[in-house]
Amino acid sequence: MATRVHGRPLAYLDNAATTHRPRAVLDAMDGFSRTSNANVHRGVHRLSQVATDAFEAARETVRISIGASEAAEVVFTKGCTEAINLVAQSWGTANLREGDEVLLSTMEHHANIVPWQVVAKATGARIRPIPIHDDGTLDLSALDTMLGPKTRLVGIAHVSNSLGTINPVEEVARLARSAGAKVLVDGAQALAHLPVDVRALGVDFYAMSGHKMYGPMGVGGLYARRELLEEMPPYQTGGGMIRTVTFEETTYAGVPDRFEPGTPNVAGVIGWAAAFEFLAGLDRKAVQHHEDDLLALASELIGSQPGVHVLGPIPSSRAAVVSFVMDGIHPHDIGTVLDQEGVAIRAGHHCCMPLMARLGVSGTARASLALYNTGEEVHALAKGLARVREVMT
Ligand code: PLP
Repeated sequence: MATRVHGRPLAYLDNAATTHRPRAVLDAMDGFSRTSNANVHRGVHRLSQVATDAFEAARETVRISIGASEAAEVVFTKGCTEAINLVAQSWGTANLREGDEVLLSTMEHHANIVPWQVVAKATGARIRPIPIHDDGTLDLSALDTMLGPKTRLVGIAHVSNSLGTINPVEEVARLARSAGAKVLVDGAQALAHLPVDVRALGVDFYAMSGHKMYGPMGVGGLYARRELLEEMPPYQTGGGMIRTVTFEETTYAGVPDRFEPGTPNVAGVIGWAAAFEFLAGLDRKAVQHHEDDLLALASELIGSQPGVHVLGPIPSSRAAVVSFVMDGIHPHDIGTVLDQEGVAIRAGHHCCMPLMARLGVSGTARASLALYNTGEEVHALAKGLARVREVMT
């Protein structure tokens, strides 16, 4: 990477927080802003039509990329967090009742916990955490026993942002469906690493984030099956989501417009679609191979250091994330010393406080890898850890 920090070439290993964007994404956004900038769905004039066509073409690109049946099943949001809030507030408020249960895995990001807590409080529903094993994998048999007539929804991360655990979403969806429950998948960390086919996975809702998969910040989306969207009340309201308005009554537009009030992030949506196209244009097997190699190298180089403990499952059940702790050294100190060495990692609870409590740590240091990372950068991290030990002990 050309960027230097503290006089050293930056090894950016914080890709689970956000990824960098390829030129194709930057060009797509820039091209829209320079030549086609107009509001969508509103104007009769030519430029507005061009912008609307580009916006709806982006929706179709997302649909194809995730295997949805129709473009109307893709709702644009400002990110994964907003997508989950949409489901919780709209579907949750309409469907949850006193005594109903929402099962969420212990490794969920706060984005897939707090929105459900708010709705549970308002409806009298109960949240039950699905346990995990000590190695950070989901306890499927516990899920099986927890599922019952009161279960209305199972929420699960496709890939854990803290540990990299790849969850068996297809199996979770199968179990949930047989109990009559809906399944919401937090896909924020999956799309950069795995091909995703929402129909093959058999899920009801799939929440997505642009900036975690080489797209821009402030954009993402929700996949939801059409028949669910059709029954869901609006989450946010205003212009662009109505059919008719009088001061007495409003009727709403169909899906997905009903869930997209206000002016959307049109350039962001176009950039996000370009990120999907960028990934589609790559040899995904080769990318996966590269990331697996980096993950194996990082796990080996980090895990073999004295006093270092890698958390989470074995590399073959993990996406390109290595979470670790060092005896007697706070994760923030690890992150700070590594920064001085030009290595950017994340330190803390990673918005997964219940997971940290389960693992018995206050936080971890986390290196998260992307397709543009190199073995050299992983070696820089390992060298940096030796420096951490030198400085901190
Ligand atoms: N879910 C997971 C697993 C995440 O890692 C993140 C971001 O860190 C989010 C949700 C939130 O995504 P967004 O930034 O798109 O709202």
